[in-house]
Amino acid sequence: MKTQNPFLSRFFLIFISIFVSISLFLLLSGITKFEERFENKVLEVVTADIIGIIKNTSKSIEDNLKGSDNYIETIKKSTMTRINIENKLSVLLTENIKYAYLLYKDKNDVFRFLADGASGEYKAFLNQKFDVESSQWYDIYKTKEAILIKQPLLHQLSITYLEPILKDEKVELLLVIDFSIEKTKDVNEVITLVKDIIISINILVVIFILILIIQTLKYYTVKKTAYIDKLTNVYNRNYLQENEDKINLEDYVLAALDIDYFKKVNDTFGHNAGDLVLKEVSKTILESTRSKEDIIIRYGGEEFIILAKKIKGNEEKSLSVIERIHTNIQKKKFRTSIGETISISVSIGVNLYPNEARNFKNAFKIADEALYRAKEEGRNQIIIAKEKI
Ligand code: GH3
Ligand code: MG
Ligand code: MG
Repeated sequence: MKTQNPFLSRFFLIFISIFVSISLFLLLSGITKFEERFENKVLEVVTADIIGIIKNTSKSIEDNLKGSDNYIETIKKSTMTRINIENKLSVLLTENIKYAYLLYKDKNDVFRFLADGASGEYKAFLNQKFDVESSQWYDIYKTKEAILIKQPLLHQLSITYLEPILKDEKVELLLVIDFSIEKTKDVNEVITLVKDIIISINILVVIFILILIIQTLKYYTVKKTAYIDKLTNVYNRNYLQENEDKINLEDYVLAALDIDYFKKVNDTFGHNAGDLVLKEVSKTILESTRSKEDIIIRYGGEEFIILAKKIKGNEEKSLSVIERIHTNIQKKKFRTSIGETISISVSIGVNLYPNEARNFKNAFKIADEALYRAKEEGRNQIIIAKEKI
C-alpha cells in the first residue's frame, strides 16, 4: 500500500518557494555588501590623494598661526592672516572640490566661518553661521581625528572631509572640504539592474507563496467539509473513495458495524428519532476510539467502517477498541425528543489482517462478510473473520 499525503506536494512547493525567496534575499544582501565594499575601495583610492593635499594645507595654516595665543581671535582680527588662509583654501578648489573653508565653534556650540576659499557670491562672510546636520561634527572635538562624511547620491558620492586643527591638544579649528566623486557608472548600472531583477523575482515568488498558501487553506477547508458526514460528523463515503488507496492497511484493524433492526427504530419512533440514534451512535463510536489514530467512516445509512490503529504483533489486543464500541452502544440509553428511551445493539464484523487483502475493497469485503455472519447468527455480536490468507 502506498502512503501519500494529498497536501504533501503543495507543502513541498511552498517549502521550495520559501527557500528560493530566502536565497534571493541573501543574494541581494550579498550584492549590497559587495556594492558597499566596492564603493569604499573606490573611495579609498580616490580620496587618498585629496586627503594628502588637505593635510598639507592644514599644516601650512597651522604654521601660519604659530606663535599666536588664540587662533580664532588672530584670524578674526588680522585681515592679512585671513586673506592668506583663504588664498591657500582657494588653491584647493577644483571641479570636484567645490568648497574649502575654515570653521570654529563658538561658546554656544554654533559653528561659524573664519575663512572661505570660495569667491564672489558664494563666499561666506566672517562669523557667518554654519548649520551642521550630523553629530559627527561635534564628535571630532573628542576624538581629534579627521573624518569623512559620505552622502551617496544617484550617480555620485558627495563627501565632506573634516580635518581638525589643534592647539594645546584641543581642537581649535575645523578645516572642511566638500567634494564629490563620480560613481563608476557601468558597475553601478549593472548592480542596480541585478538588484532590481532579484527584487522583482522575489516579489513574484512571495506572491506565488501567498497564493499557494491561500489555495492550500481553501482546498483544505473545502475538502474537509466535503469529507465529513453532516448528520454524524464522521468521515463519509467521499473520504473513503478519495483515500482508500492511501490508507496504510498494515496499520489498522478493519471493522464493519451495522445497527441492528434499525428499520424498526424508524418505524416505531419516527425518522427523526432514527436520525438522533445515528448521531448518538457515531458519537459513542468517536468517544470509544482514539480521535487522532482511529478512522471512522459512515459507509451507508446505518453502517460504519472503523479503522482501529493496530498494536503491531498484538492484533487481538487491537480488538479491545472494537469491543469497547460494542458494549458502550449496548449500554447506552438513547432518548428521543419526547422522552422515550431506545436501546439498540450493533453487529460488527472484524478483519484483523486487512493488509493481507489485495486492496481496501477486498479487505472490507472480508469484514462485511463477517458482519453478515454476525447478523445471521443472531445479531448483537462481534465476529472475527478467520480467513488468514
Ligand atoms: P439489520 O439488523 O439486518 O441491519 O436490520 P436493519 O433494519 O437495521 O436493516 P435494513 O437495511 O433493513 O434497514 C436500514 C434502515 O436504515 C433503512 C433506512 O430507512 C434506515 N436509514 C438509512 N439511513 C438513514 C438515515 O440517515 N436516517 C434514518 N432515520 N434512517 C436511515
Ligand atoms: Mg442494520
Ligand atoms: Mg444496513
